[in-house]
Amino acid sequence: MGTGVPDALPLAPTVVDFRVSTARLHGEACFLCGAVNKRLRPAGHGVVQVRTRVWQIRTCGCGITKAAA
Ligand SMILES: [Zn+2]
Repeated sequence: MGTGVPDALPLAPTVVDFRVSTARLHGEACFLCGAVNKRLRPAGHGVVQVRTRVWQIRTCGCGITKAAA
């Protein structure tokens, strides 16, 4: 029995030692460029650890994929 398959491995979060705006941590703005008027999506399994909290990184698509023109 089980309520769910543990498909999400406990990846080591990216630790940042700088102040990140709350909006970016909450996914209200792109974590990388700070864009707020673009569609934001979770950056894969990207997470960022600020002190003791771990947040899901969301970006508008910049920086995620390489320059795939
Ligand atoms: Zn962006």
